[in-house]
Amino acid sequence: MKIAYLGLGLMGQAMAVNLARAGLDVVGWNRTPGKSGEKALLEAGGKVEKSLETAVTGAAVIFTCLGDIGDVEQVLLGKGGVAEFAPAGAVIADFSTIGPEAAKRIYGALGAKGMRFLDAPVTGGDVGARNATLTIMVGGDEKPFQTALFAFEKMGKNIKHCGPSGSGQALKLCNQILCAVNMISVCEALHLAERLGVDENLVVDVLSAGAGGSWALTNLGPRIIKEDFEPGFALKHMLKDLRLVFENVDGQADLLPGTKLAQDLFRKVGETDISNGGSANGARGTQAMRLAYE
Ligand code: NAP
Repeated sequence: MKIAYLGLGLMGQAMAVNLARAGLDVVGWNRTPGKSGEKALLEAGGKVEKSLETAVTGAAVIFTCLGDIGDVEQVLLGKGGVAEFAPAGAVIADFSTIGPEAAKRIYGALGAKGMRFLDAPVTGGDVGARNATLTIMVGGDEKPFQTALFAFEKMGKNIKHCGPSGSGQALKLCNQILCAVNMISVCEALHLAERLGVDENLVVDVLSAGAGGSWALTNLGPRIIKEDFEPGFALKHMLKDLRLVFENVDGQADLLPGTKLAQDLFRKVGETDISNGGSANGARGTQAMRLAYE
């Protein structure tokens, strides 16, 4: 069974590599050729195509991991996109975070062409993508979920069919609140440790096992202490996700005050990036929220 994987960015390349390592017939495509994702997939035994058309022609399952709503709509529904070339009956699962409303629209548009769409956003970060331990939250019909499950299992550990189209994205937005608000506590704890003159490493080493422990503290705390702000999960994506959260509650910021605070702090770091040279804006990892406290 041919699997196409479109979008070999940070997440996409690690997930496609895991499919190839599992011995599946995976063909990757990336908009900008020559990036590291193509090399990684080839080295893992997968194939890479230069054109989207060739990548999806004859594919029974098509995965995408892209950026924002417009990117996913362009690749799936736009001119020269998946809907023009994929076989009728293909299962198309999108791992990007785009929110439930967009997912439902795409489900309807692809459904009208006989294609079966699943929203399948993920959590677990770049680490989870590399280690094939992602949580995959799937919305859509049961039958295509069962069809794609064998491949989901090669990329994740915790795979859940959450309900009808949009359900996976709805759960993912809840997850983004957990990640965003939790980042405040990690940054503030490290900030206080510095202020009180206690070794910041102790915050990670000792407190990770306690009631205040979290994925962010364990995985991102050490990066913050080393002032390593390279993305696992880029700030621009978090800002997108928090925008999606508020779009999906009709802009009612009062409903989610903690999320609003996190959004303000992430934005502050974006502005710092701009003042430091512009092009890096949003490219740092979300752990760069720590800089908002300086
Ligand atoms: P990334 O490293 O920036 O990669 C994005 C990929 O999408 C690249 O391959 C890019 O191609 C492609 N792309 C973007 N817009 C496109 C378009 N209009 N047409 C064709 N290709 C396009 O991003 P990422 O970190 O892998 O994240 C991808 C998605 O997963 C996002 O929705 C993000 O919110 C979500 N996510 C990320 C994480 C994480 O920890 N990183 C975790 C969970 C969910 P080019 O190389 O040509 O730019």
